[in-house]
Amino acid sequence: MRLSGFKIIMKYDYLIIGTGFAGSVAAERLASQHNKKILLVEKRSHIGGNAYDALDEHGILIHKYGPHILHTNNKEVFEYLSQFTEWREYEHRVLANLNGKLYPIPINRTTINKLYSKNFTTDNEVKEFYESVREKRNPILNSEDIIVNQVGQDLYEKFFKHYTKKQWELDPSKLSPSVCGRIPIRTNTDDRYFTDKFQFMPKDGYTKMFEKMLEHKNIEILLNIDYKDIVNKIQFDKMIYTGPIDYFFDYKFGKLPYRSIKFKWENLNVEKHLKAASYNFVSSKKKYTRITEHKYLTGQKANSTTISKEFPQMNGDPFYPIPNNENSLLFNKYKKESDKLENVEFIGRLAEYKYYNMDQVVGRVLKNV
Ligand code: FAD
Ligand code: UDP
Repeated sequence: MRLSGFKIIMKYDYLIIGTGFAGSVAAERLASQHNKKILLVEKRSHIGGNAYDALDEHGILIHKYGPHILHTNNKEVFEYLSQFTEWREYEHRVLANLNGKLYPIPINRTTINKLYSKNFTTDNEVKEFYESVREKRNPILNSEDIIVNQVGQDLYEKFFKHYTKKQWELDPSKLSPSVCGRIPIRTNTDDRYFTDKFQFMPKDGYTKMFEKMLEHKNIEILLNIDYKDIVNKIQFDKMIYTGPIDYFFDYKFGKLPYRSIKFKWENLNVEKHLKAASYNFVSSKKKYTRITEHKYLTGQKANSTTISKEFPQMNGDPFYPIPNNENSLLFNKYKKESDKLENVEFIGRLAEYKYYNMDQVVGRVLKNV
């Protein structure tokens, strides 16, 4: 990885803002496939964006910005990333903590049997059960509709309503159906969080993978710098911007809300603490949404273990776009401005204001850069 004093080349083909998946994959492709000279600027002290991982003070590998699980059905994305890392097979499992009792989430047959003391043994029985409790909603306009339409009020209130309110500070009825729609409802006993074809974690972590991706003679990296502090001092032909789109335009139409999270970390003197990688706290009693034990994600063996608790909040690093009609109208104003700029491309979760997973960002860059 070449840290730049931007002395080596004063003229770049591309100035790329942000070293997350969007910026890093774009830099790698442009350098290795098109021989472009690139300056990559990052305001944090490290590469990798929100997928960054590092050892904590107890020697445990943690995902500093929350648990990141790589899952995709896109073979091209998987093969592309395979150039930069070896993999460890990993299937993520989550338990919902509902008033102290643990249930598999996404809701599946086991969840229903345990919650309602049923003894369903077939998909059909569970399908019929959902049919008997669901409340038909047509059209599906929001995140309440999409869940209630499948499983009715009780399951919605138990597993979705309060978690969602904590996560977004909005009632599910004020959020696009795509938010709660990310979580499937199952009739079988599959208790994996994801069912994608490729479910692997980078064997030595994400940061190592990013380091390898960015190891190219044409790529220089500037850390700890907000691009606005240097953009007028650098010559470049094109820019790729992966930061928040409203910041780029100095908030001229007003601030686009992004949701943030405060992480509270704890190291425990036991080898394993939880029964699954994450517990989702689905009632309103606890202020946090989830606890994650990071050793599950990384496969690390160690005598102690580190967990993170997630407290969602409005202030702080922008982590999530908040998908609803109002924000989409505001985003479209910025989008129109960005479309006028021929030499700047806006890519990624913050710049496109899209609730992208990592593989979607990689796929987007591979297709368009
Ligand atoms: P980012 O990773 O946000 O990168 C943008 C970079 O730009 C950042 O490094 C930022 O510091 C930098 N930047 C911004 N403004 C400036 C500026 N002015 N000057 C210089 N640099 C700037 N996806 C999954 O697939 N699986 C998961 O399990 C998963 N879990 C997640 C959990 C959490 C808590 C969060 C927040 C996200 C999760 N994601 C997950 C989504 C994943 O993080 C994103 O899809 C991915 O990181 C987006 O990459 P990006 O490059 O678009 O943005
Ligand atoms: N969700 C919920 N209960 C859960 C899990 C998810 O209500 O137990 C809702 C919540 O609104 C959440 C969304 O579904 O923000 C998407 O969940 P996911 O686990 O994909 O969130 P992420 O990992 O992106 O934070």
